[in-house]
Amino acid sequence: MAKKSYAVIGLGRFGTSVARRLHEAGQEVLGIDINEEKVEASDMYFTHAVIADSTEEKALNSVGIKNFDCVIVAIGNDIQSSILTVMLLKNLGVKNIIAKALGKRHGQVLESIGVEWIIYPERDMGERVANQLLSPNMLNYIELSKDYNIEEIILPSKMAGKNLRELNIRAKYNVSVIAIMRNGNVIVSPSPEELLQEGDILVTIGNRSDLALFASLK
Ligand code: ATP
Ligand code: ATP
Ligand code: CA
Repeated sequence: MAKKSYAVIGLGRFGTSVARRLHEAGQEVLGIDINEEKVEASDMYFTHAVIADSTEEKALNSVGIKNFDCVIVAIGNDIQSSILTVMLLKNLGVKNIIAKALGKRHGQVLESIGVEWIIYPERDMGERVANQLLSPNMLNYIELSKDYNIEEIILPSKMAGKNLRELNIRAKYNVSVIAIMRNGNVIVSPSPEELLQEGDILVTIGNRSDLALFASLK
């Protein structure tokens, strides 16, 4: 992946995690926080961090905010600062803005200002935890739409030693297997003859309720 530049505004737990991960992946990251202690603590994780109030246009200009490929606004609790910051970024012509929202109404405002991607960390993580509790065999998922997911599901034990054709998974459960993860390898578009093994993780696509049923098999 080509190197890109990211500015992360707000170095709380969320902002710091985003910044650290991007930095680990070799991307250029600038951290910005109004609080000196947060900026000093962040030095351990990445190279550039500055003390600045992102609700001041001058401060944003002085770090050259327009030149970043993507700006992440990770201010949550102070909704007013979050909104003001995003409006300034928009006015300055920043193209790619990602912002964290505390709740629905905060998110709606951010959406109306034109934020490309709004993240609700608490809501989404809560849903993830609940889904994990409901289907322990489901390891991970991507929402494709309101109804359809891609999910990583641990192979039900009773299916080990059989192939996709004899299990008749698509016809029986309305679920398609698009890949199999086995011992760190990925078998993409598995053949119907592929023999499934205990411990396989099936990457599946389908309707959410069909997938939930499939993930509940033993
Ligand atoms: P998290 O949930 O990510 O841990 P938090 O709850 O600790 O965050 P938030 O209120 O969401 O805190 O703010 C995150 C960070 O944003 C804080 O470190 C705060 O100092 C910083 N921040 C708040 N207002 C501004 C601002 N105007 N300019 C720059 N940074 C700001
Ligand atoms: P279909 O019309 O259902 O695709 P088919 O007549 O083309 O079936 P095959 O592709 O050989 O025949 O597959 C037979 C059955 O094996 C399918 O109906 C399906 O239930 C199961 N199967 C094969 N490959 C997969 C897969 N990747 N994921 C889930 N089930 C599969
Ligand atoms: Ca918080």
